Amino acid sequence: MSSSKSGGRKKRGRVGGQPLDDHLFTLHQRLRQALSMGLRSVTGKTKKWDCIDAEVQRVAVRSISSFLSHLSAELLHSPFVQDTFGDIMVALEGILHTGNQTLLSLTAEVLVKYVDLLGDSILRYDCSVLIHTLSCLISSPRPSVAISCAISLNSILKKLKPWKVDDHKSAWQKLECTNAIDGILHGLLEYITGNEKPVDYFTQMASLLCTILWWWPSSRYSVWVWSNQNLTSRIGSLCRNLDSSISAVMLQVYAALALCGDLAMKLLESREPVAALVFCMEKSQPYSLRIEAFRLFQMLTKSEVGTTMIMQQYGTSVVRSITRAMIEWKSVSSERIAADQFPLLFEACRAALIVRWPGDHHIQFWSHRIDEILFHLLVNKHFTVDKPLDVSFFTNPAVCKSMGVNCAPILRPFLWDLLGWLAIHCDEKFSLCSGGESNFLNALISYTCSVSVDVVGKLGCIPHDLVNEFEMEPAARALLLLIFSPCKQIASQTHNCLLEALKPHGSRYMELLVHSLEMVMHSSVNGAFDQLRVVIALMSLASCSNLSPYQDYIIQCGGPRVLSSIIRKHSSAGLRISRSSIVSHTLDKYDSRTCCSDHRDGWEGMDIILFFAMCSFAELAKNSDFLLEIRQTSEVQCSLETFLDLLNGRGFGSGVQWFVAHILRCFGMYGFPSKFGSRVRKQLNVDKYADLRLMLPDGEYLQAHKVILAARCPLLLVPTETASGSNKSRRASCADEDLEQLCTKFSNVVRLSSRVHGCCMKKLMEFAYTGFVEVDHDHVKHLKILAKLSNLQTLTFLLSGKRPKWGSAVATCDFSSALESAGHPFFDIILVPQMTGEETCNCIVCQDQVPHVHAHKTILLSSCDYLRALFQSGMQDSSLEKITVPICWGALVKLVKWFYSGELPLPYIGCLWNNMDVNKKLQELKIYVELSWLAGLWFLEDVEGCSLHVIKSCLMSNPHLGVGVMQMASELAQWNIVELAADYIAPLYPKMRNQGELDVLDEALLNAIRSSYVRLSLNDVS
Ligand SMILES: [Zn+2]
Ligand SMILES: [Zn+2]
Repeated sequence: MSSSKSGGRKKRGRVGGQPLDDHLFTLHQRLRQALSMGLRSVTGKTKKWDCIDAEVQRVAVRSISSFLSHLSAELLHSPFVQDTFGDIMVALEGILHTGNQTLLSLTAEVLVKYVDLLGDSILRYDCSVLIHTLSCLISSPRPSVAISCAISLNSILKKLKPWKVDDHKSAWQKLECTNAIDGILHGLLEYITGNEKPVDYFTQMASLLCTILWWWPSSRYSVWVWSNQNLTSRIGSLCRNLDSSISAVMLQVYAALALCGDLAMKLLESREPVAALVFCMEKSQPYSLRIEAFRLFQMLTKSEVGTTMIMQQYGTSVVRSITRAMIEWKSVSSERIAADQFPLLFEACRAALIVRWPGDHHIQFWSHRIDEILFHLLVNKHFTVDKPLDVSFFTNPAVCKSMGVNCAPILRPFLWDLLGWLAIHCDEKFSLCSGGESNFLNALISYTCSVSVDVVGKLGCIPHDLVNEFEMEPAARALLLLIFSPCKQIASQTHNCLLEALKPHGSRYMELLVHSLEMVMHSSVNGAFDQLRVVIALMSLASCSNLSPYQDYIIQCGGPRVLSSIIRKHSSAGLRISRSSIVSHTLDKYDSRTCCSDHRDGWEGMDIILFFAMCSFAELAKNSDFLLEIRQTSEVQCSLETFLDLLNGRGFGSGVQWFVAHILRCFGMYGFPSKFGSRVRKQLNVDKYADLRLMLPDGEYLQAHKVILAARCPLLLVPTETASGSNKSRRASCADEDLEQLCTKFSNVVRLSSRVHGCCMKKLMEFAYTGFVEVDHDHVKHLKILAKLSNLQTLTFLLSGKRPKWGSAVATCDFSSALESAGHPFFDIILVPQMTGEETCNCIVCQDQVPHVHAHKTILLSSCDYLRALFQSGMQDSSLEKITVPICWGALVKLVKWFYSGELPLPYIGCLWNNMDVNKKLQELKIYVELSWLAGLWFLEDVEGCSLHVIKSCLMSNPHLGVGVMQMASELAQWNIVELAADYIAPLYPKMRNQGELDVLDEALLNAIRSSYVRLSLNDVS
């Protein structure tokens, strides 16, 4: 003690290698003393605060407070301090728990300081008791206490680590048993309804709510229901009139709710939140608010449907806000993007990624000069492009050095993506230049070519030699999308630039590409880096395959062989190589927290190596040498089989299927073969139920069904009284002059003009009926004319040989439109469900309000042998105009959809389903039990398989549904379903029996469960 008397603050010993000054030493002593008065050892290690004396508590809190305020950052990790930290937590928790009103506020404040100081290391201590106490106190009537506790709780929860499952579990239990969410929502509501509480109260509570929503998906649905009742209607006024920090936190809450795909859709459907979001994106709003708005916008536009919903109403304003935020940094006078400008720019660029979806917003982006914005971000800020720049300009090393350094590297992948998407979704006739102003776009194209060619040169490098590794894939991809752009101007400009850029090393690079693909294909290493390299090589190869001089070269180097082996390998392996698994910028932290989402793997499919190999193959297939070669080799049969398998197999993505169809045309095949199509094929040129004759010039005629033509190519159907006034408008709208000349119309007979080739007409009919046709090369030209005249768009497109349109759905054979107005005149049967007595229907064909569907015998019997026999039996039933189908209305609607499209509508199992009550779920399942039963009677194997699959997956997610399913199935004697349900119940049998859940079942069903349970136990034993 003598030293402290004489010399003020001298160093007093060292603790954990750190000097500890006298003052802190004294504070520490005092703290230990104060804590010792209240702490008691419970077991050997754990301690507990055990003192209700107010004075002792006050001393403890004050000494903790002064100790914490004097701690320096370096001392935090010394063992001496860390020992004390554990005790401090116990003491603060204990004091809060005793509920000493005079000390609550102060203690809570000290706790905030404590949690803040500890940072991540707080997780070293067991926080569950503290979480429990804090979670109770956030409902405290005193705002200051509630605020402090919310802050502490929030920062503890934020520090949880995703992989520590136990921590999550225990924290959630505490939050649940203290009704934390209710407490928060109640507090928010009080604030909104005018209770005098500080703004801080609202923001801290809402921010805590965000953290909870972020970690625990199961909390989302109930919070949505609450916010829909209490917040949604007020959100507009909240965002417009109040403190911007409130609006910002509200946007955060909505963003956290939108982590659930189902709720994101609900949000989009309710008008106010979207209106508020668009409002907060505007330039006049505070900076931080705009950032939050852009984030929420990204969450809501993850699906094409969501994007369309927002853009249809707010397109102009949204695009204006985004483009402004993307260019704002330029007005600040500095060479580079200022650090404080970056967050907004970053979020705006990510929001601009809505250009990955097709739509009208593309035109708006172009009209806001997105090309100029991208140029300034990607290439150079100060550069003004007043003359066309060619590739040589960008390949000049000196110029390049001064370029491309303008923006943070982290942004560049997004900018490449934007450029690519904008190019691929361009219209065929798109033209930016009104008076030669497209210099920015041309410069971007030149720059892309120069960078991408550089990327190819670096492909052979070992990983750590790669410069700008993160932008290799995005740049190569941008080049491919520019080359593939439907816009002729962009495609040809890119084509020329790429030729120019390849001049010095072109042929060597082609070898390098093919060689590097070969190497990776034969090596056993298949890490993410290899996959990345393959994808880049394939994209570059696809781009270069477009250039005729290099096409030959690639074929000579063995490109086709490598590509077909990649395609074969990947089509059978069912690999999941999504873009986000190899390119980091496409993944964001939100993706790991989403609970349900309807966005599947997208158009390119789940294996992008397969997709880009198809792209490359398709380009090469345009070369006649290639075709000759591939037709002559034995590989052709093999490739053909692979391709057809790709079309038949589900889950390859629409893009892959489109490119297969694109390639198949080289083998004389057009369309998408399907099971449904081959069923309908049986009706082709069959005279039973045919109601139309197509008279060919040579006197031969084709039998046809009006309903099928009405659904697929209505232009071939012509009204009987052609001259009557009522039909004039229709003829004017649909008829082509040429078509009029081609067909002479008679009721039920169409005479085709002498210019129509009989066999082409047959091919056309085949495509209309089945969605797939094989055509000799000689007939292609004529069929093309015929397809165009009859407005068979898919066939016209496939025959034209144009590249598949990015994002377009696979055009399968589908007669659903015949159920609507197109098929009205040809309805010849009515299907009535078994009466349930509740539903009514608004039929537009007849006045009958009893549920029923009008349908066509031709279509029904093509998919169902039972109905075929019934209709053609010649017995009384065959002339019936109405049949009762012994299933409920919901099942009938689904069945009819299957008859007309070959697809049985499946229930969507997401969060909405999970939050549905049991009865509703069982109602939905009943549909499939009935369908499965009917499928057995009517021999519909497809329907049966599909229904069983639905039932199985629902039981898997919730075995408790099995009880209801067993009852429904036993009523219909569906014993296979009864057994299925019993198998799912078996593992829970003892528990469910004890809880009385099984009491509703009769003895036979109980026996089924018991024997399943016995089987299970025996299996476990063996
Ligand atoms: Zn969800
Ligand atoms: Zn009707």
